[in-house]
This record gives sequence, C-alpha cells and structure tokens, in this order.
Amino acid sequence: MSFWSFLLNPDRWISSHIKRGIRQAVFGDLIAEYKGARGESRVSRIVGRACTDTTAVSINDLYLPWPDGRTAQIDNLIIAESGIYVIEVKNYKGWIFGNENNQYWTQILSTGFRGESIKNRLYNPIRQNNSHIYCIRKNLKGYKGPIHSLIVFSDEAEFKDVTVNSSNVYVLYQSNLYRVMREINDAYKGSLSEEEIADIRGKLMIAAAGVNSSNHTAQVKQQIAEKEKRLERGLCPRCGAPLVVRTAKKGVNAGSQFLGCSRYPECRYTRNIN
Ligand SMILES: [Zn+2]
Repeated sequence: MSFWSFLLNPDRWISSHIKRGIRQAVFGDLIAEYKGARGESRVSRIVGRACTDTTAVSINDLYLPWPDGRTAQIDNLIIAESGIYVIEVKNYKGWIFGNENNQYWTQILSTGFRGESIKNRLYNPIRQNNSHIYCIRKNLKGYKGPIHSLIVFSDEAEFKDVTVNSSNVYVLYQSNLYRVMREINDAYKGSLSEEEIADIRGKLMIAAAGVNSSNHTAQVKQQIAEKEKRLERGLCPRCGAPLVVRTAKKGVNAGSQFLGCSRYPECRYTRNIN
C-alpha cells in the first residue's frame, strides 16, 4: 500500500497496517521459526520409524571436520544395516527448478503481496550433500558400503523441473520420505553388520568431538545456518518477518526492485533480487 492510498482512505490504511504489523510482529516470527524447527524434527521422527533394524543409529546435527579445517553440518545421518543415509532437510516453499549437474537451482516464491514473486538462487543441494558425503568418506577411510543421499524438501515446495541422474540420490518431499526409506531398506538389506555399524558410529563420533571442542566455529556455523533457513522461506534473516519486493525511490538504483523486510523501518534489512 502506498502513500496515495493513505491519502484516499486514511482509516483503512491505518487499520490494515496495524493489523498486518501486529500479525507479523506477534505471529510471523513464531510461526516461521516453529515451522522450520518442526520440519527438521518431523524428518527425524519419520527416519526413526523407517529404520526398523534394532542396530540402526541416527545422529542429528552432526558437525564433521574437513581436512582443511572447515566443518560440514549434516542434518541427519543414519547408519543402518542397509548403509549410511545422509539427509539434508530443505524448508523451501514455492516452485523449485534444478538439475543435478547445475551449480545453482532456482526457487520462485510468491510473496503473497500484490501477486509479486521472488526469484532466489540456491546452491545445488545435491552438490551440497555430495560434499557432506565426501567429508564422511574422508573421515571413514576405506568405507566400501552404500551411501544414500536424500534431499528432503518440505511439502510446501513444488518441484517444477528437478532432474536427478545418479542412482543413489533422491530428491523428495517430506511426505514421501518414509516410503523411499523403506524401499532403500529393502533393496540394501544386509549391507552392514552390527560390528560395522558400531565401528562407523565410533569413528564419526570421534571426528565430531574434535569439531565440538572448537565451539565457537560451530556456533557461527549454526547462526549462518539459521539465517539461511529463514531466507529459504522468504523471511528476513535478521528478524524473521516476511520479505517483500520494494522499488528503490532514489539514488543510483532508483526504479530497480529489491527485497526488504516488511517490518521496515524497525528492521532495515535489504537484499538484492538475483
Ligand atoms: Zn527484518
């Protein structure tokens, strides 16, 4: 709503702004955070139900060291009779376009504001998970068993043109996770023995302990991950309120569009539209 609509109908302008402001201030952040956290805990519950072998081990939020000192954050890792499952949870809403071979994928998200949409670029999550898998292999020297890469999108996302070529890579909706995991389970049953599962777990926990001792790095990583999760949902990374499309009024960029926090001027976060 513009300045002109305020002049034409000040009462309506004020009441709609107050309503929108209050709703976002009170519920926007809470709902956004809750949905993100709920997405991840729901995934770990589904994983728990799908892995029926008693020796299976599930680890959430695992930080593993890279040889070069960086860390890889793995949302969910399962070590089961049917192999190692590396699960990456994506809370993106909207339309998703992407090919396994591209470096970047595209998200098109409706802002719910005057029919405008945001086009976002996201790093190819298959490549991201491949780098996690590479890191796991580095830490498990000589591992020969199967590794399954699962990229789990929320059911609020819609795959428009997503192409996967590799046989051990799955890009799926959360609601299909249970079925897909059961299928992998059946196909790869007996790949790992009880001793092998325990051995892998031990090696990874020792590697992770090295990362956790440098707590600061892990915290910074966590904060960056939180901000990325907000952006995935079209929310302000600073305060969690929805982002809206705005047009620059002055300066060298006058007339061009950018993303701004809907709580402006309380929050001044802006971002270029790419
Ligand atoms: Zn904000």
